[in-house]
Amino acid sequence: MVIKGTTRLLGVIGHPVEHSFSPLMHNAAIAHLQQNSGSHQPDYAYLPFPIRPEKLKEAIAGFEAIDLHGFNITIPHKQAIIPLLDDVSEVAKAIGAVNTVWRDKDGWHGTNTDAYGFLAPLKALSDASLTGSFNGSPTNALAGSLTASLAGPKDWSNARALILGNGGAARAVVAACQQLGCARISVVGRSPDKLAYFAESWAHAPHIASRLKVMTWDELPTQLPKTDLIVNATPLGMHPKTDVSPLSEAEIEMLKPGAIAYDLIYTPRPTKFLQQATTAGFLAIDGLEMLVQQGAAALEIWLAQPAPVDIMRQTLLDYLGQSRGQSSKKLLQAKPR
Ligand code: NAP
Repeated sequence: MVIKGTTRLLGVIGHPVEHSFSPLMHNAAIAHLQQNSGSHQPDYAYLPFPIRPEKLKEAIAGFEAIDLHGFNITIPHKQAIIPLLDDVSEVAKAIGAVNTVWRDKDGWHGTNTDAYGFLAPLKALSDASLTGSFNGSPTNALAGSLTASLAGPKDWSNARALILGNGGAARAVVAACQQLGCARISVVGRSPDKLAYFAESWAHAPHIASRLKVMTWDELPTQLPKTDLIVNATPLGMHPKTDVSPLSEAEIEMLKPGAIAYDLIYTPRPTKFLQQATTAGFLAIDGLEMLVQQGAAALEIWLAQPAPVDIMRQTLLDYLGQSRGQSSKKLLQAKPR
């Protein structure tokens, strides 16, 4: 990667930000484009910026002063950034959070690429079910068989999604499930107060509110047999507590035949939840592709050229110590339900 006097900055802000894989993924992509894109070589470098919540406004003013081109946003700034921007996209307004910001002559613009990232592997599966072949990267679906991959609903208009957790990521998943066309989107949480707030927060989006239902975990047994897509949007099962799953094996067995289990977690791969789902014969998707695709969508906004998605994915797989071969092997092992 070449850094010159002309190089402009990109970055990610958060507190903490040390855990972020974005600098790794984006710098690998920029370096690849510098070597391979002829006259359109991007002249950028991507840095982590740890910003304390009380310093956010000052940080944005500083970014303007140094002509920083754009940045990603992680916890805890995804909502707090909104009043500091000059323009926020409809999708970010609907989700109520911004994860990608860029600057032009009109000021700071914000959007949210998480819903797009979440949808990418599901769309790959739907396309495969329409064409009769699964041509997506094996890393799109960590586990599950080719046959199982064709079992997902290609017409989502009657599908029911069940989202475990009611935090920031769940908001992007709700918006994505609406874009997918799901008939019913249920959100499971442990705090009735937080659930009520979550439900009310969609009042501005009647097309989402009309199909959204919130519920506590004790309602799971009645929901699971009707569920086409179940999404873990909690940290349950995330490194280092890898022996935890949001569902018991008996609960996983209750899922509707052909259901898809999607875990937003990407360390470990697979999570216990996805191992249970695969063993029970369901298609499983992990969070790595969402991470890659939300990053690729942000990079395309900043660079105005296609992102090298394969390089971004492989960089993360290499970092996590996993090869495509390993993922592919797992993909072929599971038995369809
Ligand atoms: P968050 O805002 O902190 O929300 C976490 C949610 O999980 C909350 O609803 C919380 O419930 C619930 N929860 C936490 N511990 C729980 C437990 N022991 N039992 C039941 N529910 C529990 O976090 P987030 O940003 O939404 O992230 C959620 C997960 O998604 C994380 O694992 C994160 O790494 C992953 N993620 C992945 C991507 C990706 O690109 N793949 C992107 C974003 C997030 P309360 O509200 O009751 O506390």
